[in-house]
Amino acid sequence: MEGKSPVETGEDPLAPYRGRILYGLASAAAVCLLPFSVNAFVQGNNGLGAGILSAFLVLAIDAFAIYLKKSPPIPLILLLIPIAAGTAASLKVQGFFGALWAYPTVLLFTFGLSRRMAYVGSILLLLIISALVYHYIDLAYTIRIFVTLTLTIVLANIVLSIIVDLHRRLLDQAIVDPLTGAFNRRHMERCVSDAIERLRRNSAPTSLLLIDVDRFKSINDQFGHAKGDSVLKGIVSLIEKRSRKLDLLFRIGGEEFMLLLPDTQEAAAAVVAEELRASTAESRLLEDWQVTPSIGVAELRTGESPDSWMKHADDALYAAKKAGRNRVVCAGHPAPRPDPALRGAGAET
Ligand code: GH3
Ligand code: MG
Ligand code: MG
Repeated sequence: MEGKSPVETGEDPLAPYRGRILYGLASAAAVCLLPFSVNAFVQGNNGLGAGILSAFLVLAIDAFAIYLKKSPPIPLILLLIPIAAGTAASLKVQGFFGALWAYPTVLLFTFGLSRRMAYVGSILLLLIISALVYHYIDLAYTIRIFVTLTLTIVLANIVLSIIVDLHRRLLDQAIVDPLTGAFNRRHMERCVSDAIERLRRNSAPTSLLLIDVDRFKSINDQFGHAKGDSVLKGIVSLIEKRSRKLDLLFRIGGEEFMLLLPDTQEAAAAVVAEELRASTAESRLLEDWQVTPSIGVAELRTGESPDSWMKHADDALYAAKKAGRNRVVCAGHPAPRPDPALRGAGAET
């Protein structure tokens, strides 16, 4: 079964916060840069003054745009130009000091740019600054700036990948039921809407199975809540083993599940339901107790709302319970009509 994180995988978790990060970093950096620029002009180092002033302007203009809630007009990566020019001028007149600006620039790139641009920017910065230090100072300084800057880039990227990982886990937790690992109700609503959209646009059928464990209250009463929980986990792993990669399983209530079958018409869905019912009934999930499900099957009809689709499946489930449990009832037909050919092409189990 696919798709523990089929939606936003959180590759760029900082994206929604980039404005805030840029505003903070850019305004702090701009304020720090201005006195150095003035100082360089006063000392007669016009090249250096101009380099620092350009960096100040890039940062100040971007920060001001963010303050006005507009997108920053100057790509941060362009900072490489004034930084390289300013560093060259500074190395020439002041010695090694100029190279120190590379460290905050790495942080600005890592947290202010998209991941790919940040890599490109940081590596270019590392190479340019190392070359300049080699040219204006000597090899010993070059080795030190190269190693310390590389370490700074590595550390900043470790922190960033931890943030990416935490973000992805948070997204997963938001859509997964912690007990069984099936998707939760919240994610179901979104997938049901997607199915409706697919039928509207591409005439692609989708069926759903509502699966309810029979007499689960008695299982809890007789074997205890913990055993009840393990029955739920066992049922989920049974269903996952027997469904296709594209099928989506949701836990929508205590002992109630929904299996969404894309590209599947009702008759084929009924066959899947019957297989699931039989394999659950034959499984030895509990000793001295046959665990069985009742299953309602409904195919999405044209123009139907999510509520109406669920209602059809729910009515079928209710009919299955009423008819004595441990059975499959279809919303469209009183009994399953096995016809696996109707199931979507490329079916995998
Ligand atoms: P029916 O055959 O009509 O479906 O009867 P049932 O006993 O399965 O249905 P009912 O809705 O009366 O009982 C469902 C029970 O599921 C009641 C509740 O205590 C239990 N339950 C709900 N959530 C959990 C859970 O997370 N773990 C366990 N162990 N039990 C749960
Ligand atoms: Mg039940
Ligand atoms: Mg129930």
